[in-house]
Amino acid sequence: MNKQLSHRVQSIKPSPTLAITARAKALRSAGQDIIGLGAGEPDFDTPDHIKQAAIAAINDGFTKYTEVDGTPELKAAVIRKLQRDNGLEYTPGQILVSCGGKHSFFNLTQALLNPGDEVIIPAPYWVSYPDMVLLAEGKPVIVEAGIEAGFKISPEQLEAAITAKTRLVVINSPSNPTGVTYSHAELKALGAVLETHPNIIVASDDIYEPILWSDEPFANILSLCPSLVERGVVLNGVSKAYSMTGWRIGYAGGPEWLIKAMKKIQSQSTSNPTSISQVAAQAALDGDQSCIQTMLTAFKERHDYVVERLNNIRGLTCLPSQGAFYSFPNCTQAISNLGQADDVAFCEHLITQAGVALVPGSAFGAPGYSRLSYATSLEILAEALDRIERACA
Ligand code: GLU
Repeated sequence: MNKQLSHRVQSIKPSPTLAITARAKALRSAGQDIIGLGAGEPDFDTPDHIKQAAIAAINDGFTKYTEVDGTPELKAAVIRKLQRDNGLEYTPGQILVSCGGKHSFFNLTQALLNPGDEVIIPAPYWVSYPDMVLLAEGKPVIVEAGIEAGFKISPEQLEAAITAKTRLVVINSPSNPTGVTYSHAELKALGAVLETHPNIIVASDDIYEPILWSDEPFANILSLCPSLVERGVVLNGVSKAYSMTGWRIGYAGGPEWLIKAMKKIQSQSTSNPTSISQVAAQAALDGDQSCIQTMLTAFKERHDYVVERLNNIRGLTCLPSQGAFYSFPNCTQAISNLGQADDVAFCEHLITQAGVALVPGSAFGAPGYSRLSYATSLEILAEALDRIERACA
């Protein structure tokens, strides 16, 4: 039998964040004492008013196909959200609701990229951006910003990375995996570079928007640089804001020609996102937003605790961040102290010897680092950090 697979699938790897999460789960099921700090998902339950809306949808029989691009009601709620929180104005034809923020980005790359088109991705990056670009036969162009640069690229780096083939630039702030956030001035400076390159599409992945404790309120590059809106795509979803990762609802707002093409891809693949989840997402976007504050307060408290602890562990250095729920310590000294080959071996050491699962930084384009998700209780974090401390001693 010919087991030859496509070049596309052979060009990518399985999602490392999902793989580590699955591994921690499997080891726990096998009876091992593993603390999983790999998963990038809030540990809170989905708020009750959102669950009740979904239960009502099931009871009302709202269980059939919907419009491919999302129900008119949910799209209207998305439009209100983007207007209310981001000052961005969209019409229904400029909105596409998909099966999670990940799917929104996937549709974007599939609809936009031709073979060889370059996509600028600042590193550390979320694990799936480069692979989705590769699946669309594009070329990821990685621009690195280490801990010394606060994990943020400069306008000069952006300008230097742009070529005649650049088609898309991805900005993710607050960032997965570092939690750092670009200031308004920094985003405007990046925007000023992009304003001089009129053929580049700008994607702003705002999925961590509400999980933010910087001095400035949230703003994305499109709201700060209005001239980019006509070629900008805002990507967001309900997963992180409302602790709804399993419901799989993301959305994109952008120019109609591009959203229409993304919708075409979706119509030939998943069709509509789950009807029940759409009703839940509408309840989340239109409902009481105080549930976000509860999570935010907890994440900030955990952030302060985790960063302080990490910086007191031998061989680790960690930057304080302004949002999301990740810390991204530099582990190079600890790796060398322990005689480990690299961050992958270091994380393997932590999971097998200390029973703590972290994601190696190389998965995010940043070898020598690792990602710790603090979407778990302070008690569990304290135990995990005690274990890491002992493993690094
Ligand atoms: N975005 C989350 C993470 O980084 C969820 C898992 C994934 O799809 O990567 O862990």
